[in-house]
Amino acid sequence: MALIVQKFGGTSVASTDRIKNVAKRVARWKAQGHDIIVVPSAMSGETNRLIALAKEISTTPDPRELDVIASTGEQVTIGLLAMALKEEGVKAKSYTGPQVRVLTDSTFTKARILQIDDERIREDLADGCVVVVAGFQGADEDGNITTLGRGGSDTSAVALAAALKADECQIYTDVNGVYTTDPRVEPEARKLDTITFEEMLEMASLGSKVLQIRSVEFAGKYKVKLRVLSSFQDEGEGTLITVEEEKQMEQPIISGIAFNRDEAKLTILGVPDRPGVAYQLLGPIAEANIDVDMIIQNVANDETTDFSFTVNRGEYNKALEILKGTAEKLGARGVQGDNKICKVSAVGVGMRSHPGIASKMFNALGREGINIKMISTSEIKISIVVEEKYLELAVRVLHKTFGLDKAE
Ligand code: ADP
Ligand code: ASP
Ligand code: MG
Repeated sequence: MALIVQKFGGTSVASTDRIKNVAKRVARWKAQGHDIIVVPSAMSGETNRLIALAKEISTTPDPRELDVIASTGEQVTIGLLAMALKEEGVKAKSYTGPQVRVLTDSTFTKARILQIDDERIREDLADGCVVVVAGFQGADEDGNITTLGRGGSDTSAVALAAALKADECQIYTDVNGVYTTDPRVEPEARKLDTITFEEMLEMASLGSKVLQIRSVEFAGKYKVKLRVLSSFQDEGEGTLITVEEEKQMEQPIISGIAFNRDEAKLTILGVPDRPGVAYQLLGPIAEANIDVDMIIQNVANDETTDFSFTVNRGEYNKALEILKGTAEKLGARGVQGDNKICKVSAVGVGMRSHPGIASKMFNALGREGINIKMISTSEIKISIVVEEKYLELAVRVLHKTFGLDKAE
């Protein structure tokens, strides 16, 4: 007998029929003698709908109130799922995040989980109940409702698994595992039986939203056995996220291709090339809480230099305004912006021991006539920025170049 946390994403609970199917699946696991905690998301599209409602009232919604609104989607699905389980003859009880007490900090709309009180859950499990806990939400010390950022139910599930020392955390979604790239963009993408935490962390942070990045961080830190599976297929082992040592001796060099459309690039031209300038440029951007991703500073020829960086597309206009102000102060030649770019990345721990991956990548893109605008590398990833219209082509070319397509 094992203790298992099962998370079901939005598409898996998108209708009452699908919720009934989830209940049937949970009931089967329960019948095998396991203790089960279920974490549903809101019905798919519901969180978007709730946020859109808030924006009809205010274009800059108060974050505390936004969380009060956005968290309600999951309150509906926990109730429905607990009822559906009872219809299956399974004892079940639902809890919101604040009821459990999932304690978070007070960073509304992207709160971090600090602690989970496991007392009520343990009592209910001992009583033979399936415990249904709302994903995506918690409460801060003062009892304010908080949410964990988009896709945050994954993190709720992993955090519960860590707090209760569960044997496994299963993330049920609309694909049957983690693929070499998003199968919606590359139909030739292949399901991976395993992927290392390190690689999954990179894939998630570079745009593969199959798992929320924080859930992977949490699982790595607390050694939670994490698996991604399909809620629409019965067979299959899904993808297990592993620590590196567990993988086979012969690593593939590249495990996957990730991408992110949500990027924008800003360039300030002809700024004086002297100490402190990077800080003068990026300081005001950081103060406005805008995250900066890639940064490039060119070689100076005439004692001035060009400086480019990328930000999330949603923050492009704000960043552009700030940069124009800075440009004026510094006497720069001008500011340019481009919000029709995307980032494509190749990820793989095998890269560490294989030189020449970057040149192979640039060669393949060059042959397709794809111009690279920015490059950034780390030990286990290479990212490039290209025009957004090349996204699909770049993903497919790299997928093929690194031999990730399905075996013939
Ligand atoms: P859920 O609602 O179940 O949380 P998400 O939409 O958040 O589901 O995540 C699943 C989706 O992630 C898939 O439908 C797929 O399009 C996308 N995805 C992106 N990259 C990958 C990848 N490498 N492997 C599998 N799915 C991926
Ligand atoms: N319902 C939330 C969202 O749409 C959380 C989740 O689905 O994981 O972002
Ligand atoms: Mg998700």
